[in-house]
Amino acid sequence: MADAERRDALRAGLQQVRTRIATACDSVGRDPAEIRLVAVTKGFPPTDVALLAQLGVADIGENRDQEARAKVAQVNAILDRDTRLRWHFVGQLQTNKCRSVAGYADAVHSVDRAQLVAALDTAAHRRARRIEVFVQISLDDDPSRGGVSADDAVLLADQVALADELDLAGVMAVAPMGSDADSAFAQLRDVSEQVRAHHPSAWAISAGMSDDLDAAIRQGATHLRVGSALLGRRSP
Ligand SMILES: *Cc1c(COP(=O)(O)O)cnc(C)c1O
Repeated sequence: MADAERRDALRAGLQQVRTRIATACDSVGRDPAEIRLVAVTKGFPPTDVALLAQLGVADIGENRDQEARAKVAQVNAILDRDTRLRWHFVGQLQTNKCRSVAGYADAVHSVDRAQLVAALDTAAHRRARRIEVFVQISLDDDPSRGGVSADDAVLLADQVALADELDLAGVMAVAPMGSDADSAFAQLRDVSEQVRAHHPSAWAISAGMSDDLDAAIRQGATHLRVGSALLGRRSP
């Protein structure tokens, strides 16, 4: 697809998502300026990331280290030096990937166990960078999707807060398949309140994807992770 044509498609996707954000904010009296849109670009080329950056998107999400690492380098080669993107790692993470992820990630949304806290802290120290951390909560205790149980969230948040090179941002969750998104995200908001009772600065809530970002906003999300609604369908 020609560059100009792709730019128009991304601009239209961005406009639609921004309209949904504004409408959902309006319905609950929130200010859209409180919401950070993370464009999840997995499966899409670095040229798309560069176009999104030119359209004003500042936050990019990826869910696999290998793809992300290559893409960050390719995007940096395309963009001029003044364009500073924030990279968010949102996928399930293994301890042996932490060193690589710490090489490019400004934020990790998927920290769900103590081992990962330690590995990421060590990696961040080696890379001399601070990393923002979201504690991922499992809202249905299905281990395949990752996440710590709501009961253990505060304990894990305490561990992140104690880590030298990590900044506890808040909590993250994916709504369970087939669940009512509003009630799932309301549960996440409860966990967020428990975490904030101990860590007042950890106010962020990463929730909401293409299909359920409206519900997430109604339930207090501060960070949306949106892929297909912006970029189109991923090829399988
Ligand atoms: C892919 C992905 C998203 C974005 O999903 P869409 O449905 O394409 O918006 C959000 N969060 C995580 C963790 C993902 O892996």
